[in-house]
Amino acid sequence: MAEAAAPARKPKPWALVYKDYCTGCEACIQMCPIKDCIIKDGDSPEKSWVHVVPQKCIGCTLCVQICPWDCIEMLPREQYPSATPGTFVGAPGDIMKAS
Ligand code: SF4
Ligand code: SF4
Repeated sequence: MAEAAAPARKPKPWALVYKDYCTGCEACIQMCPIKDCIIKDGDSPEKSWVHVVPQKCIGCTLCVQICPWDCIEMLPREQYPSATPGTFVGAPGDIMKAS
């Protein structure tokens, strides 16, 4: 008799950093278990921020938990912005509100 198929797992959400709310403190980079998953953009005292490479994100949420500025959100993959990572502008909550 054939074995029953394993139930399909829902893909994990991906983390998104809202760049205009990020201070570039790098706490999330230090916490993320995946190498080069969170990348620093800009490196001036005036403005720096980070972005997530969504294809590398395993959805562990550690970055969300450590961010002191609450500017990272976990988003279902189908709602993840198609803009180039690091360029999306908006405020935390905007994407979920719009859906
Ligand atoms: S959810 Fe986990 S894997 Fe994804 S960016 Fe955050 S810390 Fe890295
Ligand atoms: S922890 Fe938050 S504020 Fe600090 S770099 Fe990461 S996203 Fe930006």
